[in-house]
Amino acid sequence: MQVADNRAVSIHYTLTDDDGEVLDSSEGREALEYLHGSGNIISGLEKALEGKAVGDKFNIRIAAQDAYGEFADEMIQVISRSMFEGIDNIEVGMQFQADVNYGTGVVTVVEIDGDNITIDGNHPLAGQALTFDVEIVAIRPATKEEVAHGHIHGAGCHH
Ligand code: ZN
Repeated sequence: MQVADNRAVSIHYTLTDDDGEVLDSSEGREALEYLHGSGNIISGLEKALEGKAVGDKFNIRIAAQDAYGEFADEMIQVISRSMFEGIDNIEVGMQFQADVNYGTGVVTVVEIDGDNITIDGNHPLAGQALTFDVEIVAIRPATKEEVAHGHIHGAGCHH
C-alpha cells in the first residue's frame, strides 16, 4: 500500500532548521499518524509523502511558503492593553488564542510599552525552511468516519 488520499499514514520524523538544530522529533514517542490529503500536516511534507511505501525513508528541505508560510509584517500589530480583559500580568512571550485582523490563530506578545502591547500572529516557524527526515512506518485505509471528519481517530482522540 502506498501513501495516497484518505489513508492513515504513520511516520517517524525529525525536524531541523537550516542551522541543523532539532526543532521537533518523534524519536522515543509513538509515530505520528495523520490522514493523508486533508491538510493535517504542512503542504510541502504532504506532497513529498505522496506515493511512498512503508519502510521508505527520505530527507526533504521544505521552503517556508510550503511549510508555515513567509513571515508577514502585517501579522504584527500594536493593540491596547485594555484588549486583554481579565488578564492582569501580560508578559513578553505569552501566547493567546485570538481573533486578529488576519484570521484566527495563536498570537505571541513580543513587546510591551506601557499600554501598547505588540502581538505577533505569525507561526513561530514562519519564514523558515524546514528539513524533515522521515520514515514511513505504517499505512492503512482510513475509516469512513475519519474521512468524513478530516482527521484520524487515534489513541488520543476523544470521540
Ligand atoms: Zn473525528
